[in-house]
Amino acid sequence: MTTQHMEFKTEVKQLLDLMIHSLYSHKEIFLRELISNASDAIDKSRYEALTNKEMSEGAGEWKIRLTPDRTAGTLTVSDNGIGMTRDEIVESLGTIAHSGTKEFLRTLQERDKQANPELIGQFGVGFYSVFMVSDRVTVLTKKAGLQSSMAVRWESTADGSFTVDDAEKEDQGTDIVLHLKDDEKKYLEEWELRNVVTKYSDYIDHPIVMEVERKKPDAYDKDKTISVKEDETLNSRKALWLKDKAEISETEYNDFYKHISHDFNNPSKIVHYKAEGTSEFTALLFIPSKVPHGIFFKEFKIGPTLYVRRVQIMDHCEELIPPYLRFITGVVDSSDLPLNVSREILQSNRQIETIRKSLTKKVLDTLAEMKKDDPDKYRAFHNEFGRILKEGIHYDFARKEQIADLLLFSSTKTEGNTVTTLDTYLTNMPIAQEEIYYITGTDRNEIMKSPYLEAFVEKGYEVLIMLDEIDDIIMGSLHEYKGKKLKSVIRGDIHLDKEKAPETKKAEGAMEKLRASMKEILKDEVKEVRLSERLRDSACCLVTDEGGMDPNMEKLLKAMGQEVPETKKIFEINPTHPVFDAMNALLGDESKLNLLKEYTEMLYNQALILEGSKPRDPAAFAKTVSKLMVERLKQG
Ligand code: ADP
Repeated sequence: MTTQHMEFKTEVKQLLDLMIHSLYSHKEIFLRELISNASDAIDKSRYEALTNKEMSEGAGEWKIRLTPDRTAGTLTVSDNGIGMTRDEIVESLGTIAHSGTKEFLRTLQERDKQANPELIGQFGVGFYSVFMVSDRVTVLTKKAGLQSSMAVRWESTADGSFTVDDAEKEDQGTDIVLHLKDDEKKYLEEWELRNVVTKYSDYIDHPIVMEVERKKPDAYDKDKTISVKEDETLNSRKALWLKDKAEISETEYNDFYKHISHDFNNPSKIVHYKAEGTSEFTALLFIPSKVPHGIFFKEFKIGPTLYVRRVQIMDHCEELIPPYLRFITGVVDSSDLPLNVSREILQSNRQIETIRKSLTKKVLDTLAEMKKDDPDKYRAFHNEFGRILKEGIHYDFARKEQIADLLLFSSTKTEGNTVTTLDTYLTNMPIAQEEIYYITGTDRNEIMKSPYLEAFVEKGYEVLIMLDEIDDIIMGSLHEYKGKKLKSVIRGDIHLDKEKAPETKKAEGAMEKLRASMKEILKDEVKEVRLSERLRDSACCLVTDEGGMDPNMEKLLKAMGQEVPETKKIFEINPTHPVFDAMNALLGDESKLNLLKEYTEMLYNQALILEGSKPRDPAAFAKTVSKLMVERLKQG
């Protein structure tokens, strides 16, 4: 095939523009990115060699090599890893695969262009960082497993396009040649390269070698020295997770975390342990302090990196952790899994299941400890990840109570930023109270004024305030906590008193006819009109059946364009509210029936508003209100 001249995709152009013109600090991370790619390429090739006999000839000793050439002004980063075919290189170095990256680009362009470049690697745009220090980049690559010397040459000056050519290369792998900009020639210096490698890539499993010149005593003349060139490995290669905990400093842990997660914050918690017994493995896990940018994108990759005896098997092994702990990153190195373990095997492997159980338990225990020993830090964690963690109540039946113990709640009795837990709720619960109450909604201030809470406030019963859309499902899945049922105050019937007060009974009797008339008027709108035990000051409200759908959930589903079956609600009226006495008086008078109808509809519309919905006919509602105002004003 001849030379192909190709355009970068628009988003690559934008990214390059950003790289070249806007990001000025930490330019040295380009080397970290290239070494990381080289190391991945070697891991892939090594893995292929293990699983596929034909590939086993491989490349001999795995190695990443840095070659600074002062005369040419180039720095070459070479690896003998998997390499790329022509199609692969066009795909990998011409587009940006992740949609999260495009999103990231947009925000970066909108906001501070000097944004922290540590973010760059997070979105898989690592390679393009070479253009922060180079005018021209040549990539020479040969795919592993090819018998011939057919290779591909890719080249670009970051001017919006690149070329791809046939080329010759003897060994498998990739050479990336950076033609350094005039003011970036420091990356030809031994000490500079050594610094950057030890800073960012020290733990990399494969040797990062560079030929260095050393002065040695002359064997023939003790007083003289001679210059010799020899390969030196720049990185210590010690897998951090296999070191003794006592030997690892906090900075080392943090640096390692930042390296693998591409996060620029320190982790909020580190979990490092070695499991022995039925399954032997070492885990080094991190709980981030902030929700990773991509976590809500479909392509967000879940799970720690899986190693088997220090050989990387896959970079995100989602089988190792339950989805509700998907914010955890880190490394798991197993001693007893086979090296050629494949995705299919992973899904039904007992060892993996054992590891997953152990990791889940360890993380949940760590969170419980953190909650007890460092409440402020735990609060911060919960703010970021509580929403994800609580999914576990729904999906992990066996551990639902343990997860419930980790949740923090705002309630009608917490003030400002304080929170409570289910356990504290039970401790403070009055003896007469039989259930744990909660209310769902979108705004705490609004909820605090809600008529649904009136009877509970009067009785001094605490109600948990829940603001996430999934909360009703979560509480439904939890069902009960330490033997006490969880009950939504906006659903089903509420009986806070065992015996109804005599005045309530009396009011009920007097209301029966009115109730029936209102039911008749609203028969197309509501399933039932009943006398309420949850209202004190307000006149009325709407509630769903015990098994009905939470109104917040309903709104969410509708917003997502899902069809929600229309279910009629129950209209509750407060028998002690004076409006009903007045309406009762209208009953006997035929000429007042229209008024009765109008008032009933108006009350129903009020209930809709209180529930967070729109009145059925907003214009008619507004008209009635105005009419009433006029009548009242006329009376003087
Ligand atoms: P990321 O590494 O996050 O995917 P990069 O922009 O750094 O993003 O690289 C894009 C892709 O190019 C990689 O996913 C890989 O497929 C390919 N690639 C980059 N460097 C190499 C290399 N040295 N050997 C083989 N493939 C490489």
